[in-house]
Amino acid sequence: MESLLKKARECGFDACGVVPVDVLSRERERLERWIGQGFHAGMNYMANNIEKRENPALLVEGACSVIVTLTNYYTPKLQSEGIPVVARYAYGKDYHRVVKDRLFKLHTCLEEVTGRKITGRAFVDSAPVFEHEWARRAGLGWIGRNSLLIHPRLGSYCFIGVIISDFEPSRYSLPEERNFCGQCNRCVETCPTGALSSHEVNANLCISYNSIERKDDIPSEIKKKMGDRFFGCDACQEVCPWNRKAVLHHVEEFSPNEWLMRMSRDEWLALDEEAFQVRFKESPLQRPGLERIKHNL
Ligand code: SF4
Ligand code: SF4
Repeated sequence: MESLLKKARECGFDACGVVPVDVLSRERERLERWIGQGFHAGMNYMANNIEKRENPALLVEGACSVIVTLTNYYTPKLQSEGIPVVARYAYGKDYHRVVKDRLFKLHTCLEEVTGRKITGRAFVDSAPVFEHEWARRAGLGWIGRNSLLIHPRLGSYCFIGVIISDFEPSRYSLPEERNFCGQCNRCVETCPTGALSSHEVNANLCISYNSIERKDDIPSEIKKKMGDRFFGCDACQEVCPWNRKAVLHHVEEFSPNEWLMRMSRDEWLALDEEAFQVRFKESPLQRPGLERIKHNL
């Protein structure tokens, strides 16, 4: 276990834990209820591969553990006043590749330490995995009323990466059984669209979903509440008291894209595809693409 934590730090992770594989029946029930209420909006993929999401041994044959890592992406630097706003996670390069490369490195390190081949797969927010629950079980924090994982030292501006494999640690991490939200309800009260209730997000109302995932027109009642945001929303993280202690990340790839930090609405609307590709080559903004960004603006 200590060697795993040491190797995870060497690979650039800010926190790490490891838990035995288990069948997450309670989380499956919760997810099915959430989908049944229609809260997943247009994310129909959430209903796919539910058995694999519930039981990671179906994702990786012979898996016995889930290694969970956190990568801090917080920066106190903000975009210039009055320009179109994106969520902090999109300031730099796309996190999927950055975190996955680190997970591959950790995988290799573990093979060196154990002296054997480890069969496993790395996942970063792109496969049917209950990342938040695995992180909680790995002692990396609790799930807040904003539905995000909150680490007591790092806060919630963290990416979760996991390795599901046949790695067997000398001992496992202890789960976080407590929830330190207490009487606080700030995120719920602050959410501009009322998308939060009892640790759940109604994606139909969430600005993140509407500005990034949605394919059709954004409903007018959401549009009115988006303010200057055109990609994502950090409102329910900005007010969280556990983020007051957040410190600047140390990932070069997450350094803010200077275009993004100062481009005005008019400059965005005048941008052509060629310039967009040059300026935002490896950015998370590639996901919606320029046409959708202009639509949002
Ligand atoms: S991301 Fe924004 S819109 Fe979505 S739940 Fe949080 S505060 Fe509400
Ligand atoms: S703002 Fe308050 S209720 Fe919301 S996640 Fe943070 S501590 Fe929990």
